[in-house]
Amino acid sequence: MSPVVTRFAPSPTGLLHAGNYRTAVFAYLFAKHSDGKFIVRIEDTDAARSKPEYEANIREALAWLGLPADETYRQSEHRARHRELLEQLIASGAAYVSKETPQAPGDREEVVRFRNPGGALSFTDVIRGRITTDVADLGDFIIARSLDEPVFHFAVVVDDADERVSHVIRGGDHISNTARQMLIQRALDFPEPLYAHLPLIMDRTHKKLSKRTGAKALTEYRDLGILPEALLNYLAFLGWNPGDRREYMTLEELVRAFELSRVQKGSAVFDEVKLFSVNQHWMRQLSIDAYIERGKFDEYPPDMVRKIVPLLQERARTFSEAREMLSGEFSCFFRTPSPDRAKLLAKEPPDRPGLARIALKTLLAAVEALPGEVSAETVKQALMPFADAEEAKGKGGRGSVLWPLRYALSGQERSPDPFTLIALLGARESSARIQNAIAILGE
Ligand code: GLU
Repeated sequence: MSPVVTRFAPSPTGLLHAGNYRTAVFAYLFAKHSDGKFIVRIEDTDAARSKPEYEANIREALAWLGLPADETYRQSEHRARHRELLEQLIASGAAYVSKETPQAPGDREEVVRFRNPGGALSFTDVIRGRITTDVADLGDFIIARSLDEPVFHFAVVVDDADERVSHVIRGGDHISNTARQMLIQRALDFPEPLYAHLPLIMDRTHKKLSKRTGAKALTEYRDLGILPEALLNYLAFLGWNPGDRREYMTLEELVRAFELSRVQKGSAVFDEVKLFSVNQHWMRQLSIDAYIERGKFDEYPPDMVRKIVPLLQERARTFSEAREMLSGEFSCFFRTPSPDRAKLLAKEPPDRPGLARIALKTLLAAVEALPGEVSAETVKQALMPFADAEEAKGKGGRGSVLWPLRYALSGQERSPDPFTLIALLGARESSARIQNAIAILGE
């Protein structure tokens, strides 16, 4: 058996969306599972559309995902070799220079066409099974626009053979290209690699995932604060599963478990909500230190951030959500609130004037009696009886007590519950904030 060699062969003609990298993930996992090599080949033969910044973005994305290549190539570096083999095919009569009648401005007067031998061509796709094409339908297709401009079908066949690629693992949209490529391969007397065409990836509306219909570039997910281990985990499950109940797997576990035989034929759906929930799982696995480091919360006082991380871990699905929480709902942890009198009184029943003030005074005494470091649960046990007593009176209910307390502590309509606020702010800061609110309410 020849060694396993797979490749990821993106064209740097735009920012690749996250689904495009599923091909890289599968090719990498399969190569590493088989102790083989993973090649990255930048297919930049379309000089007009290929841009160095897109190539840089691809390299950045692969490095970030943690999929290092054993070898990297740039297709344009193989021009001389492509030309040599084109000349060989022309010399043998398998291809010919064809005179064309230009149909549109810019069309060539001469191209290189492949002499179609006709007949049926079959191959066994590792995932899809037997596929047969009547090649006569393809006509004498173009393999180069000039001797220095091979088209994709030609370049891909030559490079795969020269790089000893054993398994062509690529998107299902390339199935229809395979017959042309195999004809070229046979004419050049190259060995036939195994083909594995991956299931298509759809968006939530069941359209093919595409940048045009809003699919995000992979690096946008990085910028949103998705963890690479989460995105990798999510992409690995787009059309594959380990055959057991595992949903969360590290790169190492994926390498160990990955088999092409478990790749499904049917399409897979890229669901951002699911991706976010996988990311939340991985964010919750991080230690507090790792969470702070990876979340880059540098502008906030580290001691307070440390205390808030468990809250963030509970709620935030991405680091950008975590940052939004710090600057929004959780901003009350970092600045002294200036509560508004009318809002402090907002939940006071009309027939109980003065209740908010009495409640705050009673709770203040309870807060001042708390020991130094307390959990939200302990605070709740200490304060809840006052709210329950109000509830029993059946007028404003617990809210008439808890609202002014929470609002006094946060100065915000939305914030964590008052017990959590007190536990994190500490008794001293909490009592100062409550006293301030009582002063605002006046005598
Ligand atoms: N360069 C091609 C693309 O971007 C992939 C070629 C292949 O995998 O065979 O779709």
